[in-house]
Amino acid sequence: FLHRLRRSEPQLSSFLYVSPDETVLKQAEDLDKKIKNNEAVGPLAGVLVGVKDNICTHDMPSTAGSKLLENYRPPYDATAVRKLRESGAIVVGKTNLDEFGMGSTTEGSAYQVTANPWDLTRVPGGSSGGSAAAVSARQCMVALGSDTGGSVRQPASFCGVVGLKPTYGRVSRYGLVAYASSLDVIGCFGSSVADAGILLQAISGHDNFDATSSKQEIFDYASQFISIDDMESKPLQGLKVGVIRETLEDGVDSEVISSIRNAVSHLEDLGCTASEVSLPSFSLGLPAYYILASCESSSNLSRYDGVRYGNQVFGDELSSLYGDSRAQGFGSEVKMRILMGTYALSAGYYDAYYKRAQQVRTIIRKSFKDALDKYDILISPAAPSVAYKIGEKKNDPLAMYAGDIMTVNVNLAGLPALVLPCGFVEGGPAGLPVGFQMIGAAFNEEKLLKIGHIFE
Ligand code: GLN
Repeated sequence: FLHRLRRSEPQLSSFLYVSPDETVLKQAEDLDKKIKNNEAVGPLAGVLVGVKDNICTHDMPSTAGSKLLENYRPPYDATAVRKLRESGAIVVGKTNLDEFGMGSTTEGSAYQVTANPWDLTRVPGGSSGGSAAAVSARQCMVALGSDTGGSVRQPASFCGVVGLKPTYGRVSRYGLVAYASSLDVIGCFGSSVADAGILLQAISGHDNFDATSSKQEIFDYASQFISIDDMESKPLQGLKVGVIRETLEDGVDSEVISSIRNAVSHLEDLGCTASEVSLPSFSLGLPAYYILASCESSSNLSRYDGVRYGNQVFGDELSSLYGDSRAQGFGSEVKMRILMGTYALSAGYYDAYYKRAQQVRTIIRKSFKDALDKYDILISPAAPSVAYKIGEKKNDPLAMYAGDIMTVNVNLAGLPALVLPCGFVEGGPAGLPVGFQMIGAAFNEEKLLKIGHIFE
C-alpha cells in the first residue's frame, strides 16, 4: 500500500499529508509483536485508513482544506479516529477536500486539485474527493469522509467505490470540523460493502463529547456478511424496494438512468419486489439544503477569528485582526456561503428563507418516513451524471449545486444511505463508474449493508 501510495500520489494528489513510512511501519511492527506474543489486537489491526482533513488528528495537521487552518494541529483525536486507533487501524494520512466540506469536486481545496483515478482529467467528486480517490486507487484500504449533503456518496459514485452515510447521530461528530451541524455526519469509504460496514462498526456509538450522538444499539455488521456459498437463490425474497420516480426524470443522464434500472432488475432477480414511488417534495430539497447549510455554516465559521485557531494576520486594530485573518484565510466559495447564510438569517429575511427552509425540511422528513413505512429501501442514482471534467463547473456554482439533488434530501431527513457501483458508461480510458443509492430507515444501516453485500 505504501509503495502504491507513493507511486500514484503525484498523479492523484488525494492526500494533503502522508505519514512518514517509518511511522506507519513502526505501528505495523508493534502490532506484529503483539500478535507474536499472543497479546490481543483490535479487529482492525493493521488496516490502513485515510482520514479526511476536516477530522482532527493530534499527530497530523488538520486543515479542513483551508488556508485559515494551515499548519493547525489539534491537541486531540476526533472520537472516530480515536476509536479506529483503539481497534488497531493505522492512519496513513489526511485526505484532500473542498474547503470546510463546501463543494462537490474537491477543486475547492485551498491546496491542490485531486484527480479521479478512472480518468485523471476528471474530478473525483466532493467534498470527500481525496478519500474516495485514495480508496479507489488502493492507496489505503478504507477511509473516513464527512457527509453534510452528499460528500461521501457522490465521490464514492464518481470513483467507483462504496460510500456509506450513517444515520445522523450514529457516529460522534466530536473532532469533525463543523460545517452545518444539524446535517454533518462522518461516513465510510471502502472497496466493498463489508469493508464499509466493518469501518462503521468501529466508529459508531454514543459519545459524551457529542450530545447529538445516539445511544441506539450498534449492530454487529461484521457478522452479517454472508459468504457467497451460503446464499440462497433468492436471498432478498420479500423485500420491497421503492424507486424514487423524481430521480429518474429530466436532468439525469440517460446512461445513468439505464444503469439504475439494471441495478433494480438485478435486485428483482435476487427476490425483491420493486415499484416506483413518488416523493413530490423531492425537488424542494436542494434550495432548502443550500439555505440551511449556508445559515449553519455562517454561524459555525464565526469561530475563525484569527485569535483562537489558525492563521493570524496582525493589523492596527482588533477589528482588522478579525477582518484580515478571515479575508485572507477563507476562499471565495466559503465567503459566498457565509454571505448567503448571514443574509438568510438577518432580520426581515429570516421568515422568508430560514424558517421556510425548516418547514420544507419537515415536509421532506415526513415524506421519507411515510415512504419507508411502505418500502424496506428507497432507490435513486447517487448523482445525475458520472464524473465530469476538472474545471467544467468550477465557475458555475449553480450547476455544481444542482448536481447534489440526489443526496441532500437524505441529510435533511437524517437517514442512512449506501452508495455502491452498479455499472459503467463510456468515457475516459476504461469507462466511468455509475453509483446507485439505497436509502434506509433511521438507524437501520444493518439492512442497507445486508442488501448491498448481497447485491455486489
Ligand atoms: N456539495 C454539498 C455542499 O457543497 C455537500 C457537501 C458535503 O456534504 N460536505 O454543501
